[in-house]
Amino acid sequence: MAMPVVALVGRPNVGKSTLFNRIANERISIVEDTPGVTRDRIYTHAEWLGKQFSMIDTGGITMESQQLNQEIKNQAEIAIEEADVVIMVVDARVGVVDDDETVARILYQSQKPVILAVNKADNLEQRQDIYDFYTLGLGDPLPVSGVHGTGVGDLLDEVVKNFSDDQMIDDDDSIKFSFIGRPNVGKSSLVNAILGENRVIVSNQEGTTRDSVDTSFIDETGQLYTMIDTAGIRKRGKVYENTEKYSVMRALRAIDRSDVVIMVIDGEQGIREQDKRVAGFAHEAGRGVVIAVNKWDIVANKDHKTMQEFEAYIRTEFRYLSYAPIIFVSALKHQRLQQIVELVAAINDNQNRRIQSSLLNEMLLKATAIAPAPTVKTKRLKVYYLTQVATNPPTFIAFVNDPEIFHFSYERFIINQLREMFDFTGTPIKVIARLRK
Ligand code: GDP
Ligand code: GDP
Repeated sequence: MAMPVVALVGRPNVGKSTLFNRIANERISIVEDTPGVTRDRIYTHAEWLGKQFSMIDTGGITMESQQLNQEIKNQAEIAIEEADVVIMVVDARVGVVDDDETVARILYQSQKPVILAVNKADNLEQRQDIYDFYTLGLGDPLPVSGVHGTGVGDLLDEVVKNFSDDQMIDDDDSIKFSFIGRPNVGKSSLVNAILGENRVIVSNQEGTTRDSVDTSFIDETGQLYTMIDTAGIRKRGKVYENTEKYSVMRALRAIDRSDVVIMVIDGEQGIREQDKRVAGFAHEAGRGVVIAVNKWDIVANKDHKTMQEFEAYIRTEFRYLSYAPIIFVSALKHQRLQQIVELVAAINDNQNRRIQSSLLNEMLLKATAIAPAPTVKTKRLKVYYLTQVATNPPTFIAFVNDPEIFHFSYERFIINQLREMFDFTGTPIKVIARLRK
């Protein structure tokens, strides 16, 4: 699903991250043993009046060795490139300064909807004293206080008014996938190589939106795919492109829009902390995952054990992605690229698989024969039955005598049993315990 994107811009210290945190939906992590997954503080999901959107704090994308003034310009550029609606934040207590005017000018020229938030308007006097900000030429200034929360509702009313309906849907039934990974692992080489091997569909939509760089193609079975551009792939050379925060933010956006993500690892360089963080988000978001080790052509001194060793290394580093197939590829030598596409299609089938309740309960019977449900504090867990309530990701409800004692280890056991009985390769599975009344 494509959600509208809202970006916060403004010079340092005006209160962008305070507002960001106030507006953010704090999602509870479903992954208890995911190492390296920390909340990313520059990209998040939020909701207002039932409308979901994602939000970027461009202030978090800082570039070393850049002058402040240049940095602010870059952030405004990122906001324009990424967002459907921009919130420009200024400081009520300081008034209009040169840097505000610089940002306002860039935004004004962009023709994106811009909403001007005058932050730190904590009291009545400050809320009334906002007229100076009309000189920025961005329309009515809205007084808010990120610390106290006043005015934030009115601000969000304005934001959601500017969403257009066609931003809310990804309209076709193609399988959507994307390549994610650090700069230079070979994402754009993989994209181009795969497009070279398949029949590309040229869309004649008037593609002026930020997503128009997505490409669709058909495989030999007639299946339609959309490759989500993890931007930077086809427009290159921006100074911020190689900053970690920017590339993580892009990856998170691509994950949001994809059914399946291909986590690309450089076969020579191995896995970094950033890889684990991004993969953790894909897992949490319930997306299908393939782990592709690229540049396999230049890994030196390979013998029959090299692949096995690399696989073992990946399995320890990405323990929570045990369901993700691993594939060794070379964009340069066009090795096993069609297998990537085949895996994406297979995983998409698995994500949408529906299992009849009768089969689920047969499985449950076998499972409880292998390992009786545990007793927690003298109370024995009883799982009465299982039923599938959703696909993509496959989601099951376990009706139990006491959800409190349905612990993570037993949940994992049930998930493993599901994987043994049915093909859920490449997709996460969720099991939720409910009280049987
Ligand atoms: P950013 O650099 O634009 O992200 O700004 P921050 O969110 O880090 O805020 C900078 C400083 O302003 C912090 O000390 C905040 O506590 C303070 N601040 C943020 N919002 C408000 C507000 O609404 N009222 C007041 N009085 N202070 C605020
Ligand atoms: P991106 O930043 O992740 O999009 O990475 P690029 O696709 O721009 O690739 C970065 C560099 O790695 C380029 O110099 C590519 O030619 C090189 N590269 C990409 N894939 C392969 C591969 O399979 N084998 C080798 N030897 N080099 C590759």
